[in-house]
Amino acid sequence: MTQATAPLEADLLIAGATVITMNAAREVIADGAIAIRGDRIAAVGRRADLERSVRANRTLDGRRFVATPGFVDAHIHITADPLTRGFARGGPDDSWSDRLLKWVIPIFRSQTPDDERLAAQCAALAMIRYGTTTFLEAGTVSHLDATMEGLAATGIRGRVGEWVEGRSRGSPDEQAKASSAAIAVLRSEIERYPDDGGLLAAWPVLVGHSTNSDDVWRAAKALADQHGVRVSAHMSPRSGDPEWYLANTGRRPVEHLEAIGALGPNVALTHLACIDEAELAALKRTGAHAIHCAHAAFQGGFGLSRTGLFPEMIEAGVNVMLGTDGVAADILSSARLMGSVFRDARQDQELFPPGQMLELATLNAARGMGLEHMIGSLEAGKKADIVLHDTDLPEWGPVFDAPAQLALSAPPHGVHSVWVDGAQLLDGGRSTVLDEERLLADARQAGLALIARTGLANRTSWPVIR
Ligand SMILES: [Zn+2]
Repeated sequence: MTQATAPLEADLLIAGATVITMNAAREVIADGAIAIRGDRIAAVGRRADLERSVRANRTLDGRRFVATPGFVDAHIHITADPLTRGFARGGPDDSWSDRLLKWVIPIFRSQTPDDERLAAQCAALAMIRYGTTTFLEAGTVSHLDATMEGLAATGIRGRVGEWVEGRSRGSPDEQAKASSAAIAVLRSEIERYPDDGGLLAAWPVLVGHSTNSDDVWRAAKALADQHGVRVSAHMSPRSGDPEWYLANTGRRPVEHLEAIGALGPNVALTHLACIDEAELAALKRTGAHAIHCAHAAFQGGFGLSRTGLFPEMIEAGVNVMLGTDGVAADILSSARLMGSVFRDARQDQELFPPGQMLELATLNAARGMGLEHMIGSLEAGKKADIVLHDTDLPEWGPVFDAPAQLALSAPPHGVHSVWVDGAQLLDGGRSTVLDEERLLADARQAGLALIARTGLANRTSWPVIR
């Protein structure tokens, strides 16, 4: 006697989509289905099988869509940038560090809590519209409570860090005070926003470069060890950081961080466009991760094609993930740029095949953030962070090879629907949770007022007749 199996209960069945699972076998299911129950994926498989085995409250016709796990942006400044994107940050003769000190940082530092709340929501909206469901913020938030409150209303998954420096150019006494003040901020943010596996949490994210004292680096690492979270920081986009560390510590930055015990599998460094072979070996030895932001490298003229060692990092087993640095919204263009520059620089058309580009934006990032048990692939038991890409667009055509088409030619505006934690945040390219018109109007006003408060002069590319 055979006993009928009870149907699997689900809230939603997405049926008939091409499902890029990103599972261990990298299976793509041509006529696939995904069942969502609560915040989790209940089942993934052939449509015919799931239609038999799942009893869903609602079924969505997925036939024109390619489904992927949500993408991860592992380095983004979610405040200031979204309100002031069009404002030139620098004068014609400013060096890179002058631009940071005289233009970029004053803009960041002039934000009110309301500015950061709005900016974070704009950033989240842009990410969701391009299929990014999880982000790692870059450690430049000044008003953490307002930022978290704004993010909570968007439904996105993120890890955010309050701005911490702790490098004093003064006496040893002043240095000790600056370090302990910075460490107190790190401890407080982690206690206020603990990482309990929920959508939002605070991590000890450092601005990095040469702005953090050794004590702050060590404290960030210790807090990450103690609380099971991760450290992230900027390092070596160009030669300035290596020069500073060599002059002040006698070692290059990554070697110095290893020597003081600040690196490990729970640490990820952003940029690393200017590291040497010994630093690469230090990354490998310590299990630290690398975050590559192609847009920032190209716009900033980092010299990535000459000095970047990303193919070598990957070859050596260093986990690499991608960030937009807030310069662009879609992470796939970051992968495309990265692939393009190294294929060209190494004259090797086999570098960065399409599947690897998708891995960088999903599985690698999930691993780098320690969230691989929750996100990064479409598999039963993982969080229901799902993106439907609309193939009913001129850029798609028939689906011959979904991963390749998605990685190489799909337009970013093809993202049609997005779920995070089982909640639908985007439908038909429109937010289902935010009042987009009002948010953008408020953000426009706030951006103008913010720049006015800094007193910085607007410099347009060409003369504007008013
Ligand atoms: Zn950055």
